Amino acid sequence: MSQIRGNSVKPMLRIRVPCFDNSDIIRSLNKTLIGRITNPETQNVGSIVSVMPKIWKLDDGRVTGSDLGLGRFRLDFKREEDILEVLKTESFSFNQWMVSIVRWEPAVYKNHPCDITFWVSLVGVPRHWWEDRVLRRIGDELGTVREVDEVNAMVKVTVNGTKPLCFEIPVRFETSGEEVDVKVEYEKLSGYCSTCFRLSHDKESCPESDLRKEVEEEKDLKMHATICMND
Ligand SMILES: [Zn+2]
Repeated sequence: MSQIRGNSVKPMLRIRVPCFDNSDIIRSLNKTLIGRITNPETQNVGSIVSVMPKIWKLDDGRVTGSDLGLGRFRLDFKREEDILEVLKTESFSFNQWMVSIVRWEPAVYKNHPCDITFWVSLVGVPRHWWEDRVLRRIGDELGTVREVDEVNAMVKVTVNGTKPLCFEIPVRFETSGEEVDVKVEYEKLSGYCSTCFRLSHDKESCPESDLRKEVEEEKDLKMHATICMND
């Protein structure tokens, strides 16, 4: 079957794969991490898969990396304990921009993997509210809370790396009626756009900045036209 769009013919094939047991394949990937870059302008997947094992001091054959295309890569480990040690060092960055690296799972959703896990300081929560439920409730707004540190008012949270980061949250404490703006400080955050808070580009290449420029230019033109008309 095909569909004609303009001058091109786009094949419309739909294939049904019959049921079969792929548990052996899944089992063979149980010591694999899968990763994805955030900023294709500055990060090179080929470099990541060769440099990351060196950074982790596992470049003696204990990790093998390969490029999966579309900014994604896989890292195959020989030993489970090495994976656990590496995952303790998250969040990951390369060439001063963040990288999502997670355990492989049989996932097919769009943009996988995009999870990045940060330890986050919640600055501005009054000391008398440093309690698990309070910190967890704030952390829930940022992503999936993994751990809570009541002593330092911090949460370990997994965020979606394709979405803008949140740096400030107004919080109202119903018990007392207190209201504060909580500042969110991400540990080991490397590279983000200070205009739209995304991890994929810097301020200079922000599409929202271009839009703003266009809007400003349009306003200037209109103002100029008004002034000319009034002359
Ligand atoms: Zn931006």
